[in-house]
Amino acid sequence: MIIDTHIHLDSERYNEDLDEVLNRAREAGVKGFIIPGAEPSTLKRAQELAHKYNDVFFSIGVHPYDMKDYDETYLERFAYDDKCVAVGECGLDYFRLPEGEAEIAIEKETQARVFRSQISLAKRLKKPLIIHIRDASDDAKRIILEENAGEVGGVLHCYNADHQLLSLANENFYFGIGGVLTFKNARKLVEVLPRIPQDKLLIETDGPYLTPHPHRGQRNEPLYTTLVADKMAELLNKERSEIDDLSTLNALKLFGAQLGA
Ligand SMILES: [Zn+2]
Ligand SMILES: [Zn+2]
Repeated sequence: MIIDTHIHLDSERYNEDLDEVLNRAREAGVKGFIIPGAEPSTLKRAQELAHKYNDVFFSIGVHPYDMKDYDETYLERFAYDDKCVAVGECGLDYFRLPEGEAEIAIEKETQARVFRSQISLAKRLKKPLIIHIRDASDDAKRIILEENAGEVGGVLHCYNADHQLLSLANENFYFGIGGVLTFKNARKLVEVLPRIPQDKLLIETDGPYLTPHPHRGQRNEPLYTTLVADKMAELLNKERSEIDDLSTLNALKLFGAQLGA
């Protein structure tokens, strides 16, 4: 069995055929799905889906791209739902910074403030974090350590293969691996994969984005976690079943045993 630890099922790109998408995945052994909170406007839908399907769970959070909508009080309204398993995705993303030095400084400051706030929310709720880091490893790592986020731990989702983040394994952080592993230009991630402690490996799709080879260009879906698991097995010289077992065990440890029920 596999758990897709990061799948945006609340995206409108699944509206038409969500039942088929889930059933295709289930038939291939994918038995748990976590919808990360990204924008507050779809949180209600994520919660509804988690109550419609036994094997679907959700988290509360605001992606750095949507931080203007950050409202801790609103997020917290969903926090005590028994299908809410984490806080995030939150973090830092410097990929699309504005023009101008002053504007960049303001953007980075705001991202840091919203990130710190979600870390403290997670600690207060005693829930693990789903963390998104893009082109911002230095600052993100510093904030994680300064805020003592290891108290709740979490996942560095779509792990960017940056070696300096590996030490966060000692702070109770896991590493989410998705379709990028199958890309032809995935050299960095392929190289770093064996250095990730195996008790900290997680599998995710980040669908509808980051579709693995050979489906690149199409919509991603949780069925394709199997392609990530296949590739991981090949690169780590393990049986596919071992990868399924260890990544599932890790997901249950981090997000709670109810995911495997
Ligand atoms: Zn993300
Ligand atoms: Zn995401």
